[in-house]
Amino acid sequence: MIFMDCIFCQIINKEKTADFIYEDEIVIAVKDINPKAPFHLLIIPKKHITSVRELTEGDRQLIGDLILTAKKIAEQNNLTGYKLLFNVGRRGGQIVDHIHLHLLSQGD
Ligand code: 5GP
Ligand code: ZN
Repeated sequence: MIFMDCIFCQIINKEKTADFIYEDEIVIAVKDINPKAPFHLLIIPKKHITSVRELTEGDRQLIGDLILTAKKIAEQNNLTGYKLLFNVGRRGGQIVDHIHLHLLSQGD
């Protein structure tokens, strides 16, 4: 389901531009517009899920896909060290209410 007022759904829908690094039927990866590290991507499922708090048993594979996509992109960019991060809820630092995995690296 696509949420019209969700900026990540708009990016997935190509209604809003972003620097795409990867796309398949399940996930996209885009450069963070305000990077907090020299290498900072967002791995975003096409399915709109608000946050980790809203995950269900049925999302097990989807979450695996996010992490494996991050791993693949890290390998393609020869990153030997990186951080994978989910911010959860406002008090957890989450600003965009569409679940996303941050891939952060200082580079190599
Ligand atoms: P959060 O704090 O919700 O975990 O992370 C949201 C991230 O999305 C932030 O790092 C922010 O810089 C990034 N961001 C916000 N709006 C946009 C946008 O329109 N395009 C892209 N590419 N990143 C965005
Ligand atoms: Zn969304």
